[in-house]
Amino acid sequence: MTERQRTRQPNGASSIYFGKDGKWHGRVTVGVRDDGRPDRRHVERKTRAEVTRAVRELERLRDEKKLRKPGKAWTVKTWLEHWVEALGEALRRGHIPTNAAEIAKAPRLEEEEIEPYTIEEVQSLLLQASKRRNSARWVIALALGLRQGEALGLHWEDIDLETGYLRTRKNRLRPKYAHGCGGDCGRKAGYCPEREQVRREYKSTKSRAGRRTIGLPDPLIKLLRRHLEEQERERIAAGDAWQGTGYVFAQPDGSPLVPNTDYHHWKELLQLAGVRDGRLHDARHTAATVLLLLGVPDVVVDAIMGWEPGGSARMRSRYMHVTGPVLKNVARQVGDALWSSPDTNRDGN
Ligand SMILES: [Zn+2]
Repeated sequence: MTERQRTRQPNGASSIYFGKDGKWHGRVTVGVRDDGRPDRRHVERKTRAEVTRAVRELERLRDEKKLRKPGKAWTVKTWLEHWVEALGEALRRGHIPTNAAEIAKAPRLEEEEIEPYTIEEVQSLLLQASKRRNSARWVIALALGLRQGEALGLHWEDIDLETGYLRTRKNRLRPKYAHGCGGDCGRKAGYCPEREQVRREYKSTKSRAGRRTIGLPDPLIKLLRRHLEEQERERIAAGDAWQGTGYVFAQPDGSPLVPNTDYHHWKELLQLAGVRDGRLHDARHTAATVLLLLGVPDVVVDAIMGWEPGGSARMRSRYMHVTGPVLKNVARQVGDALWSSPDTNRDGN
């Protein structure tokens, strides 16, 4: 099939075109965003007929005023509240592989394997996390996909609990030690009785994609408020020994968490939850997978995950072996659950 010239339609009419990626794309203007720009929704399908149907469906939902308010605010705030419900629904209907083994049958990629946890595994993880110190740390990993350095680098000044936003601006660094003894203690520097810290605690996040603002879902705001209260109690208990300098996730004396310790906490959590052993990065993969499964608009997924604009298509494609088969069956149902009002899709299909 030949590449077609993409034509700009007058005054917000829908457009359908065949892209360089070999897929059919449709764009529908459904309203005006909060920032005054037109709210254009994007769909992609394999065939022209499918994309036409999707475009007509969007137009119908628009005309019946069943589309949610556009942009980051609603998607990020609502997706966490919706995804367990929406995927749970699909699961009950038997459309989603119910265990990791089914997902793992997918062909191996050369790059790091994407192995997200399933919905049930996430639920066990969150349940076990809720019983531990710094439980919000794991909700942030599984729901928002923050990298370890980003989560451990968070300071309270980066979180606005009133407006419900979090900014990733600092990256916690692994500690590096040098001998304080002159080098004759006979141990490695990290175990030197007089060891000295020779690396700063964190560095500022430089890249534009890395520095991002993420809307917090209401359950996470509540959790963070509780976490703040718990930390306040620890501060009072620590008295003069308090070392706190504003870290959200800290040791009981307020000093920053050490990445290696955090890693071991993750491993403990996996065991307690009775789920398969996984890497810390699998929590991030889980967050990305869920966002992609939910059909959250690309720009919003990029904004949450901190994917560079130039590399985001490649990142998305890395998830295809997981999301592809599931998406094929579920995208429309989950999409309906998200795009239309809750009471219209219950018995609709
Ligand atoms: Zn030494």
